[in-house]
Amino acid sequence: MSFVFEPTSTVALPVVGQPERFPIHRVYCVGRNYEEHAKEMGFTGREPPFFFLKPTDSLVVVDAGQIGSMPYPSLTQNLHHEIELVVAIGVGGKNIQAADAEKHIYGYAVGLDMTRRDLQNDMKKQGRPWCIGKAFDQSGPIGPITPKDKAGDVINAEISLQVNGADRQRSSIDKLIWNIAETIEHLSAAWELQPGDLIFTGTPEGVAAVVQGDRLVGQVTGLGSLTVDIQK
Ligand code: MN
Repeated sequence: MSFVFEPTSTVALPVVGQPERFPIHRVYCVGRNYEEHAKEMGFTGREPPFFFLKPTDSLVVVDAGQIGSMPYPSLTQNLHHEIELVVAIGVGGKNIQAADAEKHIYGYAVGLDMTRRDLQNDMKKQGRPWCIGKAFDQSGPIGPITPKDKAGDVINAEISLQVNGADRQRSSIDKLIWNIAETIEHLSAAWELQPGDLIFTGTPEGVAAVVQGDRLVGQVTGLGSLTVDIQK
C-alpha cells in the first residue's frame, strides 16, 4: 500500500519485564470518579460515570527510570495535574459485565491527565465540549504498563502525587466511585473496547496548578513511579 504521505508511527508503551511494547488504540478517560475530587469541583460525588477521550498521540511516553517532560501548553494560565491509575485493555469486547471485566485487562500504568482548567471551566459554563481543556497535545504523560499478574493488589493500592517534593494528591484506588470493573462495564456499553485501549480512571482530590520548571512525581503502589518535568 502506498500513502499520500508517511503515516504517523504507532504510539506504544513499554511493558515491565518484557521487550515487546504495548500498542495504543484509544485513550478513554473517566470524569469525576473520586468523591472528594467531585466535591472540590463543585459536584455531589455520586452520578453515573461519564467519559471523554484524549488523542492517542497526546500521550507522552516515559520509559522506566526516565524523566519525562512536557511543554507548558498554549492558551492557558491554569495547567492542572491529575494523577490517575490507567487500565490497559488486552482483550476487547462490548457490553462486558463487571463480573467478566478482569479477563479483559492486560495491565496497569500510572498516568497524568493534564488539564487546561481555565479552558475546561469556560467550556463547562457554555455547555461546550471539553476537548480544548483535556485533549491538547502532550496532555497525557504515562509510564510503563505493569502486566496485571505483576501489579499486586491494585484495587487497594495507594495513589499519590508530589510536586517539587511536596504532597499534592494522596488517596487509594478503593475510593473510586465506579471501580475498575464497573467502569469497564459502563464504557463497553458505549464503545466496543479493543486491545490497546487505555482507560484513565479518574483523579483523587488535590488537583492544582503547576508552572514551568515544576517536577511532578506520581505513583501507584505496585506500578512504580512517573516523573515529569514541565519545561521551562
Ligand atoms: Mn482526569
